[in-house]
This record gives sequence, C-alpha cells and structure tokens, in this order.
Amino acid sequence: MDFSISQDLQARLTELREFVDSRVLPLEPKLLAGGFAAVEADLETVRNEVRGHGWWAPNHPKEWGGQGWDLLSHALVLEVLGRTPLGLYSFGTQAPDAGNIELLHMHGTPEHKEQWLGRMVRGEIRSCFAMTEPHTAGSNPVMLETRALRDGDDYVISGRKWFATGADGAALCIVMAVTNPDAPPYQRASMILVPKNAPGLVHVRNISVMGHAGSGWISHAELEFQEVRVPVSSLLGPEGQGFVLAQHRLGPGRIHHCMRWLGASGRALDLMKARAQSRVLGPDSVLADKQLVQNHLAESAIELNAARLATLHAAWRIGHDGAKAARLEISLIKVQVAQTLQRIVDRAIQVHGALGVTDDTVLSFLYREERAARIYDGADEVHLASIAKQLLKPYSHSESDVTQPLRK
Ligand SMILES: Cc1cc2nc3c(=O)[nH]c(=O)nc-3n(C[C@H](O)[C@H](O)[C@H](O)COP(=O)(O)OP(=O)(O)OC[C@H]3O[C@@H](n4cnc5c(N)ncnc54)[C@H](O)[C@@H]3O)c2cc1C
Repeated sequence: MDFSISQDLQARLTELREFVDSRVLPLEPKLLAGGFAAVEADLETVRNEVRGHGWWAPNHPKEWGGQGWDLLSHALVLEVLGRTPLGLYSFGTQAPDAGNIELLHMHGTPEHKEQWLGRMVRGEIRSCFAMTEPHTAGSNPVMLETRALRDGDDYVISGRKWFATGADGAALCIVMAVTNPDAPPYQRASMILVPKNAPGLVHVRNISVMGHAGSGWISHAELEFQEVRVPVSSLLGPEGQGFVLAQHRLGPGRIHHCMRWLGASGRALDLMKARAQSRVLGPDSVLADKQLVQNHLAESAIELNAARLATLHAAWRIGHDGAKAARLEISLIKVQVAQTLQRIVDRAIQVHGALGVTDDTVLSFLYREERAARIYDGADEVHLASIAKQLLKPYSHSESDVTQPLRK
C-alpha cells in the first residue's frame, strides 16, 4: 500500500499551510473577541487573496468557478484549512454552502443553477439548510412536521425549523418539507429552494449556544415558515425524494467534516506541545518533563494518527466504490474523529490550565463549537447503531455456517 502523495499536491499543501498560518490564524483573536461580525471585513480581504492565488472553492466544479479538485486531494486541503475555524470560509468551501452547492450542482435545474449556483460558488452569497425542527427528533427525520402544500403552481410552506447554520445573512434556504404526506415515510419529504427574504420566512433568532448566539456564518438560527409561497419550479430534484438527496449530501460531506476536525485536532495538539515546552514549573522543569503531560501528548498523537488514516481510507473508498458502498467506513469515522477531536481539545485545555478556558486561545472556541460534532450529521449513537447493524448483517440467519457449530 502506497501512502505517498504526489509532489505537486504536497507542494500545494505546504503553500496552503503557510498561507493559512500567516494570513488566517492572525485573525483569530478578533473572532474570539467579537465573533464573525468582527472579522468579516478582514476575511473578505483574505478571500480575495485566495481567489488571486487560484485556490478559491477547491472542490467545486470548474465550470462554476471552483477548482474541481478530487475528493482525496480536497480532503487533505481541508485538513490544512481546519487548523483554524476561519480556514474553510477563507477558501469558499465552508458548510453548509459546500453541501448545498453539491446538491444544486447534482439536482438543480438550469434555472436554479443560473439563479443560485454561480453566485454561491463565487462566494457572493451564502445559503443555509433547514431540516431539523425543535419539536420533532432530528435523529428520525421521517417525523418532520413542516408541510409544503400544493396550491395551483405554488407550494405553501408552513412549519418551524431550528439550527439552520449560517441562516443569518444567507440569501437562500434549502428547506426539507413534507409534500406527500400519504406516501411511504422515506418518500414524503422534498427539498425546496426558498429565498431567505421570501414573505413569511421569519428569522426568529440566532440560537444561543453555550452562551454565544453568534452572527452571520457562525450562527445557528431558528426559522418560522408562515405560509411561505414559492413556485413549484423551486423544487430541488423529484418530489418526495428529499431523503435520497439528503443522503447524497451527507456521504462526501462527512469526509469534509472529519478532515476539518482532524485539522482542528492537529492544531490543538500543536498548542499542547508548545505550551508543554514553554510553561515553566520550576528552576529546571517545564510541563513537558512530566510523564502525565507526555501521556496526554502521546495518546493524542496515537488517536489522531489512527483517525486520520481511517478518514483517508474512507475518502479513498468513496472515490473507488461510491458513498453507498462506503457506508460502514463513513459511520466509523464520523464517530471516531468527532470523539478524537473532543478528547484532544480537552487534553489541550487541561495542559493550558486556566489559560485553556479563556478566549485568549482558540481552544475554548473549539471546545464550545465542536461539541456539536457528536450530534449533527448523525449523533454518535445513530452511527454506532448503524455500524452494529452492518457488522451483524452476515450473522442474521440462524442457519448460517458461523452459528451452526456453536449450537451443536
Ligand atoms: C451546531 C449544530 C449545527 C447544526 N446545523 C444544522 C443545519 O445546518 N441544518 C439542519 O437541518 N440541522 C442542523 N443541526 C441539527 C442536527 O442535525 C440535529 O441536532 C441532529 O440531527 C440530532 O437531532 P436532535 O437534535 O433533534 O436530537 P434527537 O433526535 O432528539 O436525539 C437526541 C439524542 O438522542 C440520542 N439518540 C438519538 N437517536 C438514537 C438512537 N437511535 N439510539 C440511541 N440514542 C439515540 C443521541 O444521543 C442524540 O444526541 C445542527 C445541530 C447543531 C448542534
């Protein structure tokens, strides 16, 4: 098995790493002090530099203004960008826009693409994705209550959504609503494109998450659809196929999340190393001399390496066999990487002592914002159940070769 990557790609990653470290990381103190609003203008400057370098929207289609890089190359890029919470946004490849762009590219009509896709890829507008509802379990989305009723040539959408990431300031909302209530559960819902300023679409609030309501792209909104009327041509993909489209969105999307989390884990580990080496404990001793601190570092490196290899393998599998065939690998890494990130950030905070819980380092932001990694895109338990189901599948027949000898 060859783990090497091409010289071209390695050179590109080194260039990107230098750019991220010199141009994006220095914006973090402003983000930590004032949130996204405080840093948005600086980020626009950085985004223009990224465009100038020809790095903009690395994974998006070339014909719409992206660079068209393949999943594995893009995964490695995301690891570099994930070193800072502002990395992906700086390069026009942030969630939820990245997934929404993929949806529009795969399932949008020529009119949808003309109206939304180009502007989204170019980073002129942002979008959000509204599926989860406060009063129904997101883990079982067939229970969705938001309705889109047909009225002549329109859909009329009513319902309440929450945790629509980046809805604040977005131009487009892709909403998941029930269009076919009498169909089998997984054929009831559709995705519909709704301009964020459509009459009746109320931005109720940016939800406060662990004390921070956030703003702009770094926020999660509660939205109310009060009989929002859009033309039937706003349907994305076939009616009743919302869950099929959602699956398309989630496969590569989980690789994106995982690689970003690995980047963040690597950054936390770097901070842990630097602090361990620089924090003086006594005349001849720094934190790094202590075995318990060395243990934090070593355990983190072991877990990070294992999670990284598993994620790259899952990306490779998707590239070779498609997202459906890679279901098990995708579930494995979704749990493994989200948990690894949280353990490493937690250890990094511990090694920093009081400094770790302040907003003077990026660790507190990671601790707060990335706790949700174990909840969105499938909570840990949902993936664990799916993993177990797939593991047990070959053993489900009581007469199988494997169980027979045991029963004799
Ligand atoms: C920061 C953040 C950003 C988000 N962004 C978006 C977005 O942009 N758009 C969007 O539509 N949604 C978004 N979400 C919502 C997210 O998709 C849901 O939170 C997720 O699907 C879980 O749904 P729920 O919160 O309703 O939890 P529930 O479904 O109520 O589940 C609660 C808990 O129950 C447990 N559980 C669930 N199912 C099982 C099971 N089968 N077996 C055992 N235990 C189980 C898990 O521990 C789970 O965390 C976001 C959430 C967060 C926190």
